[in-house]
Amino acid sequence: MLTGARVVTLDPTRRVLDADVVVSDGRITELRKRPARSRGRRGSELDCAGLVLIPGLVQAHIHLCQTLFRGYADDLALEDWLTRRIWPLEAAHTEDTVYWSALLGAAELLLGGTTAILDMETVHHTDAAFHALQEIGLRATAGKCLMDAPGSPPGLGEATDRALREATDLCAKWHGAAGGRLRYCFAPRFAPSCTGPLLRAVSDAAERTGAMIHTHAAETPVELERVKRATGRDEISYLDSVGIAGPRAALAHCVWVDADGVRQLAHAGTNVAHCPSSNLKLGSGVAPIPEMLAAGCHVAIGADGAACNNRLDAFEEMRLAALIQKPRLGPDAMPAGTVLELATLGGARALGLEAEIGSIEVGKRADLVALDLSGPHGQPADADIPSRLVYAARAADVRHVLVDGRPVVRAGRLLTADLGEIRDKANAAARRLRRSAV
Ligand SMILES: [Zn+2]
Repeated sequence: MLTGARVVTLDPTRRVLDADVVVSDGRITELRKRPARSRGRRGSELDCAGLVLIPGLVQAHIHLCQTLFRGYADDLALEDWLTRRIWPLEAAHTEDTVYWSALLGAAELLLGGTTAILDMETVHHTDAAFHALQEIGLRATAGKCLMDAPGSPPGLGEATDRALREATDLCAKWHGAAGGRLRYCFAPRFAPSCTGPLLRAVSDAAERTGAMIHTHAAETPVELERVKRATGRDEISYLDSVGIAGPRAALAHCVWVDADGVRQLAHAGTNVAHCPSSNLKLGSGVAPIPEMLAAGCHVAIGADGAACNNRLDAFEEMRLAALIQKPRLGPDAMPAGTVLELATLGGARALGLEAEIGSIEVGKRADLVALDLSGPHGQPADADIPSRLVYAARAADVRHVLVDGRPVVRAGRLLTADLGEIRDKANAAARRLRRSAV
């Protein structure tokens, strides 16, 4: 039981309650309204007095394999960023470097209040990332990156059959592992990296296995132009034609989507993973998120990778998701309450887990984050809670984190892995990678 917190439920009526949260077998079993003087304590209680309890934040676009590239690929546009830095670094990855990259990223995410992610790994060694995720306790839907187009970068391009076979094997091994905490997603990198047959096969495989599809879309005008030249269609429409659409699909970015594209995304129920820091840092642009929401699109947020952000901080993404729209559309665009929904309920839906996570309700998984907003930046305490969370709170305010009811962070300390060891091993792995990447 978590006692004493103010609980931001994100339930259908968006209640904020002073309640104790009872957890049993990984799920929330009761929200017990507190009588004024019920402060009895038992051994299994986590004291959250004075804290704000929120549903664990969900980031629907992450590349854990790029955590070790942080600071190695700054101040470049997407195309140079990929071809000069990211692809050579990804091609140099080994099982060991993927493992430490995933642990480093997962540690940062958990300590910052993110409890679930949709994660695109690199082409090779995805098994190692799953092992890291299994150990550290983060909820993740992850997948091997698929690249089969002619002219794919050295060390990453694969034959269509081989890429699909490994993806299907990984899905069989990891989809539903760790008591359902780990799930698989089929992850074609982006339309220009993949053949039409691969994309169609991915759509079929996802349908057959119940796994998600995660890819990038419409991130830059250059990408849009390449897809148009190769297929004769707008990118969203092309993806739709090969089955990369609908509630099972989550498309990262969608910056360059026109009104037709927005309508198509809304009509199909496709998830959009909005990554404001990454879009700003790579100079990609500002995604038309308020327009998408007005059209009924399903939107989530994500930090993307550490190589283009450079933080994996959901609080930073929430704040930016609100702020970047205001110069364009006015200060009433993207209010705090809407953004908080994207980072919780929207993320849950993008992972296909809306019945399991994203709010604090009886029956849902106990993915919970307790924040200490007693610092000066969290005052005054009677201000609107979504405003305090989206505009003022920081990752450093996170005190306790539970995933599936299991404490993974307590009093700001990671319980499931040795942070000192992760730091040392990740640094050594990053040095090795940098030396071997050509
Ligand atoms: Zn990405």
